[in-house]
Amino acid sequence: MGANRVSQVALKHGLPAAVVGALLFAAAGNGSAQNPPQKASKADLTAADQNPIDTAALNKMLAGLPQVTFDDEGTERRYYVWEGDMLLGRDEVQAMLFAHRSLQAPARQGELLLQVRPDGRPGVWARPKRTLTYSIDCRTFESADNCRIAEQAFTKAARDWENVCPTCGVHFRKAPATAGYRPKDGSGPTFVVRYDPEGYDYLAIAFFANDPAFKRYLGVGPDFFTTDISRDGILRHELGHVLGYRHEHNRAPAGCYFEDNQWRALTPYDPKSVMHYLCGAGGTMQMVFTASDRAGHRTAYGA
Ligand SMILES: [Zn+2]
Repeated sequence: MGANRVSQVALKHGLPAAVVGALLFAAAGNGSAQNPPQKASKADLTAADQNPIDTAALNKMLAGLPQVTFDDEGTERRYYVWEGDMLLGRDEVQAMLFAHRSLQAPARQGELLLQVRPDGRPGVWARPKRTLTYSIDCRTFESADNCRIAEQAFTKAARDWENVCPTCGVHFRKAPATAGYRPKDGSGPTFVVRYDPEGYDYLAIAFFANDPAFKRYLGVGPDFFTTDISRDGILRHELGHVLGYRHEHNRAPAGCYFEDNQWRALTPYDPKSVMHYLCGAGGTMQMVFTASDRAGHRTAYGA
């Protein structure tokens, strides 16, 4: 807790409309975000949003966003927390701003939105790569109990995804702990589950199927252990990102925020989707799969 927590929570409130959904998501389960001082002001976001090629404005806004760095074999890779639980590089944030400028038109209908790679291909795991191995780095957790709580929730969430479509070939397999290290040669697990003691900006955070190996961590923050939102529900949501699904509220119902257009819709809009934040009168505390979630997953992975 202490000063660090205050500054982290402050960053939450410095975030623009882009993460309003995330704020609601995070704030629903804990009462921690109370009148913090602002670091990145709404004005900073507005300035960057209105002119994404203004480097100074972009830098000022980025400086106020929570940041996470990854070690890519000795090279530090910096990412910004966007929409509450997505980690984007500088260029990706800028692309989001450009997309926002050009896509103020009404969002398309669609539920269980599938991430699309820059080359236009769907961002899913190819069939030969659907056994996703993971290790849980218990050393990062504050206690063995907390690691166990996280593992129980993770295991439930993973089994739930597997059971939606047994013929899709998606399997989560626990690998031996690798001290959180993921070598570039691919000898480590597909991803690592770890605790981030400073991760007050999110309940949990993940990566997309097409993200580089060094970014493949599923992190949980301190509020994960205190929130009223279902813990296995949170991890169902995060594993949804891992499988390539975007935020359901991307289609921007009132009260939510439209991120970008790098997705395609699999099913009609359903505000109760596991991928919907608590925003725009949508979202649920249990974050279970809806019939549409199941149908969309089978569409994306069944082929
Ligand atoms: Zn999310």
